[in-house]
Amino acid sequence: AVTDGARSLQPLPAATARLLSSTQVITSVFSVVKELVENSLDAQATSVDVKLESFGFEKIVVSDNGSGISRADAEYMAQRHYTSKLSHQTDLDSLETYGFRGEALGSLCAVADVTVTTKTAADDFSMTYTLDRQGKVTNSKPAHLGQGTTITVTNLFKNVPVRRQYYSAPKRRKEELKRVDDILMAFGIIKPDVRFSLIHNKSTVWQKNKSADHRSALLKVLGTGTMALLQGVEHRSLEPQVDVHGFLPKPGADPQAVTRAATDRSFVFFNERPVQMKGVEKLVRQYYHGSTSEGGSSRHPIIFLSIRVPPAEIDPNVEPNKTKVLLHHNDSILSVIEEMLQTVYSSSDDSSHDNTTG
Ligand code: ADP
Ligand code: MG
Repeated sequence: AVTDGARSLQPLPAATARLLSSTQVITSVFSVVKELVENSLDAQATSVDVKLESFGFEKIVVSDNGSGISRADAEYMAQRHYTSKLSHQTDLDSLETYGFRGEALGSLCAVADVTVTTKTAADDFSMTYTLDRQGKVTNSKPAHLGQGTTITVTNLFKNVPVRRQYYSAPKRRKEELKRVDDILMAFGIIKPDVRFSLIHNKSTVWQKNKSADHRSALLKVLGTGTMALLQGVEHRSLEPQVDVHGFLPKPGADPQAVTRAATDRSFVFFNERPVQMKGVEKLVRQYYHGSTSEGGSSRHPIIFLSIRVPPAEIDPNVEPNKTKVLLHHNDSILSVIEEMLQTVYSSSDDSSHDNTTG
């Protein structure tokens, strides 16, 4: 009950406000890994290792051999809205990096204990920085790692008991590990020249060496048997400007062999961002199933589509975890994809392909 005339609107204490927005950016082990790997890729790393202990709730370590963080930048790296990737609002229209908000490291510090060991090409030796809840460097000491950055996260959600409790269920922990595995596979395919590994409790869950191109990266992820049932697709449109390339199930390919019950083998990328695009997935499903005798099946075919549009066409900032994007010309871009699917799946009768599996 508020007495007449008394002001009931008060600002949240700064620490509370910080915690609330941080838990939107850092929602799970998955989002920690995604943000850290995106930072590694933005730093031009060609090798990224992810190590988890107890599904990441004990410890998450992401190491890369990228550019590193300079001594001068170190004190600002986890300060909110400090970023090396964007300096003018108009840069949002020509974004080529995964990061742009300067929020991940700061948010992570608010919900976990974080240390960063880093070395640039110009440094003689690496430094380990310990960060506090505000993202301030509280301690720094020389270390002995090579060029690149290693970020260690412990005690995730220690101060967010509801979430810690939520993720204590073994089933949810396993789901998280699977999502981590899926996102690393996605990055592994879209960045063929980057080496990745995922280690959980000291055993290798997944790894991928450098590959020459998307095809060989996909082959490593899916295996030769499945890959033989896919065909390469290319399509380009000038108005709207869209460039699509990827691999889709061959027309008529056996749905049992190229589908999964879940959507998790849909690798769809807009400007190399792994995204969830129900519209695109639905179109592929419809055309592919139309070409098989099981037409209309609800099973999800395996797809890899890398779609490039001018950066100003996409807004990746719709959700804190950036897995959805908004397209300024959504409908015309979908029409271009549909055009491509028509050519790929129209001649299903003359596709007497020999599916040599290996
Ligand atoms: P953003 O990626 O949006 O810039 P982050 O909070 O994720 O924000 O990172 C803040 C800054 O820290 C980055 O802009 C970058 O300069 C630096 N940084 C973070 N991780 C790395 C890394 N692995 N290698 C090099 N620099 C990094
Ligand atoms: Mg980032």
